[in-house]
Amino acid sequence: MTDCIFCKLARGEIPTDKVFESDTVLAFNDIDPKAPHHILIIPKKHIATLNDLDKENISIITDIFLAVKIIASQLGIADSGYRTVFNCNRDGGQEVYHLHLHLLGGRKMTWPPG
Ligand code: 5GP
Ligand code: ZN
Repeated sequence: MTDCIFCKLARGEIPTDKVFESDTVLAFNDIDPKAPHHILIIPKKHIATLNDLDKENISIITDIFLAVKIIASQLGIADSGYRTVFNCNRDGGQEVYHLHLHLLGGRKMTWPPG
C-alpha cells in the first residue's frame, strides 16, 4: 500500500468530487483551482513522473487525452479552448509525485507560463 495522496484518491480512501472515470484514469477538481475549471486527470495506477513512462505504460497518455476531450466537451470549453499541462520534477513545478495532467479552462490563459 502506498501512501501517495493521488493513489488514495484513486482507491476512494479520500473522497473527491470526481468528474470523469474510466478503467484506467480518474479525473477530479483541483483542490486549489488556478482557473474557473481546473481538473486533474491521473492514471489509477501509480506512475511518479513523465520520466517513468515506458513502452509498457505509455498508452495511459492516450487514455488521459481521451478523457481531456470528453471532459472539455462536458464543461463546454472545447470550442473556447483550454490548456493542458504536465509538470515534471522540480524545475517543472511538480509537487505531487503521481503523474497528473492539469486541464485548465474558463478564462484566457497567458503565455509564457511562469
Ligand atoms: P503539481 O504542482 O504537482 O503539478 O500539481 C499538484 C496539484 O494537485 C496542485 O494543483 C494541487 O492544488 C493539487 N492537489 C494537491 N493535493 C490535492 C488533494 O488532496 N486533492 C485535490 N483535489 N487536489 C490536490
Ligand atoms: Zn500514486
